[in-house]
Amino acid sequence: MNFNKTVVAIHAHPDDTEAWCAGTLKLLKESGYQIVIVTMTAGGMGGIGSTEEETIRLRQQEARKAAAVLDAEYICMDGRDGYLFDTPELRMEVTRIIRKYQAGIVMTHLPMDYHADHRTCSNVVEAATIVASLPNVPVNEEPLPVTPLLYHTAPLTLTDPIGAPIPDPHFFVDVSGVMDTKREMLQFHQSQKELMRVMHKIDDFFGMVYQGNKDYGAMVDVDYAEVFWQHLGGGFQKDPLIQQELGNQVKFKN
Ligand SMILES: [Zn+2]
Repeated sequence: MNFNKTVVAIHAHPDDTEAWCAGTLKLLKESGYQIVIVTMTAGGMGGIGSTEEETIRLRQQEARKAAAVLDAEYICMDGRDGYLFDTPELRMEVTRIIRKYQAGIVMTHLPMDYHADHRTCSNVVEAATIVASLPNVPVNEEPLPVTPLLYHTAPLTLTDPIGAPIPDPHFFVDVSGVMDTKREMLQFHQSQKELMRVMHKIDDFFGMVYQGNKDYGAMVDVDYAEVFWQHLGGGFQKDPLIQQELGNQVKFKN
């Protein structure tokens, strides 16, 4: 099957893409892929000492600067942070974006992610991706010739919302060589350092992300890794495209 060399990464909030898969996007960029970063909300609740509107403006700027590091397009949808619901409009907007950029690969959160907005985002993206080739979907953009491959990213613990273990990642990507790029991108999200301190009592948000990549790396004997699951359920193509494109950088747990 032929998949266009465009990755559309769609997450709920600004900083999700940078935290969970920026290293892998950098590697795909180096392999000739165009990168599009989409957030379903502008993260308006993620402000301490700034109103929702001020926070939205600030976080959109942060996200745009981070995306520019990969020469990526940045698109902010109009979902509301903390109140993200699965609606026909959001699904159609995602289908529109996937078609406009002719995505070969789509990335989003895990269906069993810890955060409610992430779970909603995952559902919307799955539903919007599977109809990407269908002519009756009421959007103007032309249907794609083939349904894009869908991959799920993960936060820093392999647990579901009630703390139970989830299945091991399908594969790990060795991002040791591109951690500088990941750091450069994540550093733009300065607003989130204070938020994480207040919300989760985490003093060093960025450090926590890098430590998570280190922990994943230790599972496959590399310095730093990001983790992925391919959406292998019914209706989706199952070509192991990222796994092949990134070759030696892809690791599997023994
Ligand atoms: Zn998030």
